[in-house]
Amino acid sequence: MEHPENAEEYRGLSVASGIERPSTINPYLRAQRPHRRHLTPGQYVEGIVKGNIAILGRAVTLIESLRPEDHAAAQEVIEKCLPYAGRSVRIGISGVPGAGKSTSIDEFGLHLLKERGGRLAVLAIDPSSERSKGSILGDKTRMEKLAVHPDAFIRPSPAAGSLGGVARKTRETIVLCEAAGFDKIFVETVGVGQSETAVHSMVDFFLLIQLAGTGDELQGIKRGIMEMADGIVINKADSGNEQRAELAAAQFRNALHLFPPHESGWQPRVLTYSGFYGLRIKEIWDMVYEYIDFAKSTGYFTHRRREQAKYRMFETIHEELQNNFYQCPSVEELLPHVEQQLLQGKTTSYNAAHRLLDAYAQYALTHGDKWRGFGSLAEPPAPEP
Ligand code: GDP
Repeated sequence: MEHPENAEEYRGLSVASGIERPSTINPYLRAQRPHRRHLTPGQYVEGIVKGNIAILGRAVTLIESLRPEDHAAAQEVIEKCLPYAGRSVRIGISGVPGAGKSTSIDEFGLHLLKERGGRLAVLAIDPSSERSKGSILGDKTRMEKLAVHPDAFIRPSPAAGSLGGVARKTRETIVLCEAAGFDKIFVETVGVGQSETAVHSMVDFFLLIQLAGTGDELQGIKRGIMEMADGIVINKADSGNEQRAELAAAQFRNALHLFPPHESGWQPRVLTYSGFYGLRIKEIWDMVYEYIDFAKSTGYFTHRRREQAKYRMFETIHEELQNNFYQCPSVEELLPHVEQQLLQGKTTSYNAAHRLLDAYAQYALTHGDKWRGFGSLAEPPAPEP
């Protein structure tokens, strides 16, 4: 049948002459895109040391990358940044969801940058991110004012891995931020336990945000977390809630007196404030800096950082030994049998453990040349800041 669509040259589209348009594919589009070429470790470090926030962000992404090929580069960047790191004040900020962490950090950050200048990085450790595959802590949208501040860098919690792994990435990010000239670092976490210990082991001052509740404020707060605090601040002391907040503060003060004194000689303080209305923020930061001056004058500041390095060394040893043990082929093979025997009451826990440890030691001895041991771990330890 005679029809234009049946013709050999028909391509399904024809343009009437006179209304031709330029191609919709812009030949210059590629050139207009931001240039995200691959950087060498040296280029990362150069950008970081110059204080380039975009390159800092990309370097943090490199640290967080799970791709084995990024690992060596990330370690090299961290190592090269180490000589520039360490010169900051690191503050841990903890509180249960809803305590007002993000509202407060926004205010705290603005206050600090205005009153003391410098640059502020807000990092986070969120153990729940492992489950939810994504973290909200440290999310820029939660800190609206800081997010647009030229001297602030906000980075959500690394999402993948064990608490140990997540904490290590945050620690490595601290190194990069310090090398980039950030002299104030906040590390945020949710008040649920283990993550506090991780944060406490990497900061100079640990600030606990609490709320005035139903009367018995101390219920539900873990003793260990309170013992870690260098300062406790009761948020939302506003809108008629002032008295309750004061009452809660008095309860916390009493409770703190029951704990043994801090090794530093510092007596933790309890203050009330309002993050939302920006009330008594100055008092909090005067307290923090009073502590920093005090701890520096007594030498405790340096002592605590060295103790933290020691703690991380042991933590790394424990973690790596444990991983190495469970990855050992003899252990993998023997473990189900020994476990069964234990469950059937044919052996004791002590004997079971020792049989497995002996199998591990034996394997390591006889396969020393092939069993790459700690080198076989996906993530070798990072150097200390
Ligand atoms: P986060 O989960 O700890 O980060 O808490 P948010 O900062 O998201 O705050 C939780 C809720 O408490 C939000 O609805 C805030 O508006 C509110 N909030 C935070 N700080 C204050 C405060 O100082 N006073 C009052 N009244 N509300 C606050």
